[in-house]
Amino acid sequence: MRHYDKNNVFARILRREIPASILYEDEYALAFHDVHPHAPLHVLIIPKGEFASFSDFMALATPDLIAGLMRAIDTVIDLLDLRKNGFRLIINQGSDGGQEVPHYHVHLLGGGPLGPLTSKK
Ligand code: AMP
Repeated sequence: MRHYDKNNVFARILRREIPASILYEDEYALAFHDVHPHAPLHVLIIPKGEFASFSDFMALATPDLIAGLMRAIDTVIDLLDLRKNGFRLIINQGSDGGQEVPHYHVHLLGGGPLGPLTSKK
């Protein structure tokens, strides 16, 4: 992908230009509630930096940032008390994946049974 749109909605949330329901922040990542939740708890965790997709993140991010994002996800799992009953992590990329916002993000879903992984067609 490599091109990064600096005005995508998550870049604007990172710059605090538009509001979000922020749950957690550290030097590597920001976590906030999804505006259109697909589960009782649906949070997005995004890295700080200009990465349009998972592939861009893995190609361009430092090892510290890659690890930092993973640790931020793990922290949010505890903040939401999801470890005992479980959760699901989802990363969408590209047209088949259905990625809508071109800033790399990880979906964390939980708070109740999540059903099948995908809609089988
Ligand atoms: P994806 O299809 O993986 O790109 O998912 C993008 C997600 O971002 C969707 O679940 C949207 O509901 C969510 N979303 C879009 N705009 C916002 C926003 N301003 N604040 C929080 N979540 C958003």
